[in-house]
Amino acid sequence: MLIDNYNRVINYLRLSVTDFCNLKCVYCQPYKEIARKSHDDVLRHEEIIRLVRLFVKLGINKIRLTGGEPLMKKNIEYIIKEILRNKEIKDFSLTTNGTLLAKKAALLREAGLKRINISLDSLNSTKYQKITKNGKLENVLEGIKEATKAGFDPIKINVVPLRGVSEEEIGDFARFAINNKVQVRFIELMPLGESRNYWEDKFLHIEYIKTELKKKFSLITERTSVKSGPAEYFRIKDTEGIIGFISPISSHFCDKCNRIRITPDGKIRLCLESEEEVDIKEFIRENNDDHEIMNKIIQSVRLKPKKHNFSIGKESGRLMSRIGG
Ligand code: SAM
Repeated sequence: MLIDNYNRVINYLRLSVTDFCNLKCVYCQPYKEIARKSHDDVLRHEEIIRLVRLFVKLGINKIRLTGGEPLMKKNIEYIIKEILRNKEIKDFSLTTNGTLLAKKAALLREAGLKRINISLDSLNSTKYQKITKNGKLENVLEGIKEATKAGFDPIKINVVPLRGVSEEEIGDFARFAINNKVQVRFIELMPLGESRNYWEDKFLHIEYIKTELKKKFSLITERTSVKSGPAEYFRIKDTEGIIGFISPISSHFCDKCNRIRITPDGKIRLCLESEEEVDIKEFIRENNDDHEIMNKIIQSVRLKPKKHNFSIGKESGRLMSRIGG
């Protein structure tokens, strides 16, 4: 078992398979082009698969693939198939912006992926394009349709609400959950990456969203959908629409944090906010054996900070797309 210095059991790995994303969400990526990591600087397929096997041996049983945009990763289906050979994995999912999902949904299902999270911050095509800088809403909607057809269940839609942008769409997202039988989850903006520059202006408190929704819909606490994790779920009365709320800022859940991350360039990242990282890629490439790599992972987990310390204006070495959200 992986246990950190604060007695938290670490069983959840977020694995970023690429630093590249085909969108440039305003709060995530800078407008100007950023250089991509070179082929040699990112984890290779076989390194990812080996690392997962070792993490699973150490007790990781929940894995999420992320990025950058994970559907941009060449042969992602192969990675998925290989990861799923580890039968101890109880929960396996992927987070995508959905723009390539229409083409890929059936292939991903065939590879064994059963559940998926799709990031979608606006249901208005003009706003969506503005937020993502070049994204087309219709591609994501088509992706959601194909994912539904392919049998993904549940499909979770992640929305980062922004002040001055999202208020009028809160009800639309609830109706979207009802009409499409998906879970819509509102997640507070964190002062990370580009959003550090204007976080105070754009942050929308999750309680505000909740209050606005309660004016129009009757929300019933949903116990069955609460498996684990920080989201609080409600069912919209008399419908199949589920709404979730995640508040990493206004009510952080660090004391229950069970996750660590692997960045695309092969660093173990112990906390989204903290710059504490351990280079596992180079350690692998120094020809260390499985036992030594597992020891390195055990040591790394001890460096996990007690809680995040997001603060505005603080320099952060990494963009969210280069950590893996
Ligand atoms: N490209 C994939 C996607 O769009 O889901 C995976 C990577 S993306 C970095 C993962 C998630 O991080 C997205 O839902 C995005 O909205 C979220 N994210 C990025 N920056 C964030 C921030 N500053 N605060 C809150 N969420 C953020």
